[in-house]
Amino acid sequence: MSVWSIILTAGNGTRMNCDVNKTLLPLAGECSLSLCFRVLKRHCEGIIVVLRPEDRDHAIEMLRSHGMNADHYVFGGKNRQESVHNALPYLPDECDIVLIHDGARPLIDDNTVVNVIESTKKYGTGIASTPVYDTIKIADQSSIVLSTPARESLRAVQTPQGFEKSIIIKAHESIKTDCTDDSSLVAMMGIPIHLVEGNPHNIKLTTKEDLFLASYYLHGDQRIGHGFDAHRLADGRQLILGGVNIHFEKGLLGHSDADVLIHAVIDALLGAAALGDIGKLFPDSDPQFKGISSMVLLKEAVSVLKDAHYSVGNIDATLIAQRPRLSPHIPEMQRNISGILGISVDHVSIKATTTEGMGYEGTGEGISSHAVAVIYRNL
Ligand code: MG
Repeated sequence: MSVWSIILTAGNGTRMNCDVNKTLLPLAGECSLSLCFRVLKRHCEGIIVVLRPEDRDHAIEMLRSHGMNADHYVFGGKNRQESVHNALPYLPDECDIVLIHDGARPLIDDNTVVNVIESTKKYGTGIASTPVYDTIKIADQSSIVLSTPARESLRAVQTPQGFEKSIIIKAHESIKTDCTDDSSLVAMMGIPIHLVEGNPHNIKLTTKEDLFLASYYLHGDQRIGHGFDAHRLADGRQLILGGVNIHFEKGLLGHSDADVLIHAVIDALLGAAALGDIGKLFPDSDPQFKGISSMVLLKEAVSVLKDAHYSVGNIDATLIAQRPRLSPHIPEMQRNISGILGISVDHVSIKATTTEGMGYEGTGEGISSHAVAVIYRNL
């Protein structure tokens, strides 16, 4: 069965109190739209993004910078219903099932999408929902309670909402009542709405505080680590810093290739996770590490972090050397490190400084490096 989805990003987001569309605000190094898109793309043959004309270029660029592109970009209407209505004509003939999703729900997950698709295949509808844990009151305009519905019968409804294409098209053609979700529209045609298990984390970004909460759900627990290393400069050694071979009259002395920058980065990463240090992980008494490239050690350290359920946020490092001049090599070092850590280059900062002739770095006796790393424990 051919599944397509419609992502709605055309809301005005007044409660976010911000000029930029909330689905395009920075979130976890991306934005809500791209996070939704990535998950839905794993399950859908095509995606239509509904947006405001003024957001079109920004949205396309945001998706493109993360390797994604929608099949159609459609402008929204004056309300949610009109926005969905504008997108429906772009569904191809072969499409059987449509998932409608709020672009402001970045925590959509694979399980929820699969539940929605399976229910829609079976029953024609599938709506993500969660139990309600608060007691809900129905009140009049003066805040006087009129009734208390039984909590067991209540469900909070989310998106994605899945429908057979013919059902959702017919609902939008025949019902003109303003509804806050598509399942209400379909229910008005007398079609049973099947609820499926959603995810309590699948919140809708409404206020600025929701961005912090979503970021926490996406990243988990945040931790910070510091690393420091120093090596002696010696004749007859190749100088390697950040995985870059640098032309110089001396190189750093050590059991491995003595890449002092990478060693500081490894210690910052392991330190953030309280998993010891480079000496514990790769003892210099072990012959298998003799002459080894420190980039191999970094790769191994990343895999240790991954096994402990951590992912890397960003790195900030400083190299301290009187000579040679290191700044021309920094972009290549950043590319090398970001490639192994699996993060973007702009999340790897490397600076170089001298000590104005003071200390062992200043006299050229050695080179040192500091690094700080932020990591996240995945929830
Ligand atoms: Mg070292």
